[in-house]
Amino acid sequence: MVNYKDLGLVNTREMFAKAIKGGYAIPAFNFNNMEQLQAIIKAAADEKSPVILQVSKGARNYANPTLLRYMAQGAVAYAKELGWEHPQIVLHLDHGDSFELCKDCIDNGFSSVMIDGSHLPYEENVALTKKVVDYAHQYDVTVEGELGVLAGVEDEVSAEHHTYTDPEEVIDFATRTGCDSLAISIGTSHGAYKFTPEQCTRDPKTGKLVPPPLAFDVLDAVMKKLPGFPIVLHGSSSVPQEYVDEINEYGGKLPDAIGIPEEWLRKAAESAVCKINIDSDSRLAMTATVRKIFATKPGEFDPRKYLGPARDEMEKLYKHKIVNVLGSDGKAQ
Ligand SMILES: [Zn+2]
Repeated sequence: MVNYKDLGLVNTREMFAKAIKGGYAIPAFNFNNMEQLQAIIKAAADEKSPVILQVSKGARNYANPTLLRYMAQGAVAYAKELGWEHPQIVLHLDHGDSFELCKDCIDNGFSSVMIDGSHLPYEENVALTKKVVDYAHQYDVTVEGELGVLAGVEDEVSAEHHTYTDPEEVIDFATRTGCDSLAISIGTSHGAYKFTPEQCTRDPKTGKLVPPPLAFDVLDAVMKKLPGFPIVLHGSSSVPQEYVDEINEYGGKLPDAIGIPEEWLRKAAESAVCKINIDSDSRLAMTATVRKIFATKPGEFDPRKYLGPARDEMEKLYKHKIVNVLGSDGKAQ
């Protein structure tokens, strides 16, 4: 048993409570490799933002669970080295799909886990989530549950259509499972193709495609049922057009990639939404940079010469999200 506290990590309880009160949200950035981790920690340390290092089942297998644990421990040490006196870093399992996986993560240094039973019938979701919560809370690990289904594709998680969270279910779910936070579905979506152009309208001023509005009425109804309860938004990348254009310019093929406008996320962050998941945007930043270098410097074969700039671009992106979208800068000294 490796307890996260021995790695210098924290759970989400206190940071979520502060985020709700303060009207901001904590960034949950997914990572799979060293460069992403370096960029996340550098951005969080420079901006003094609490941060959630988020790992999917696929990412954990990609990095190797043992190496990953040491990377998280190293991240805390690196943050301190960068002058961040009290780093607030969470290691979180994204979309845990079984009790066994959640238990394995808890036993290996994770400070927070998500159990995603959203695809199950309601009673089965309640039972599975409660089982994970009962185990996790013995070690003071926090648990995120999910109600409602998000559309899109993310690692092993995929669904064609979304089902909005039913606000009538949230009190019963939170009470019976004891979960610490709840991911809800209000129209955000996984991946870089969140919407088809047919679902969007065109802004007459900018000519840009505008996705269908998020269901803020569902969020409001959930907040009324569970005042002050931490709410999580998945699938909240904005899919910056400049990265998509750069990828396509240098030989990529990402037609009609569309994300969530950042001003909508900013609005959500001011509410009880206290964790916003961002994965695709950093994938795009990395891919755009690497593609550009491969195309413009064909003689380059030192990985540091293309992964290094990709890392710098991701750091810039993470800082932008922290300061301009989530508002979490300066919240963890
Ligand atoms: Zn997700």
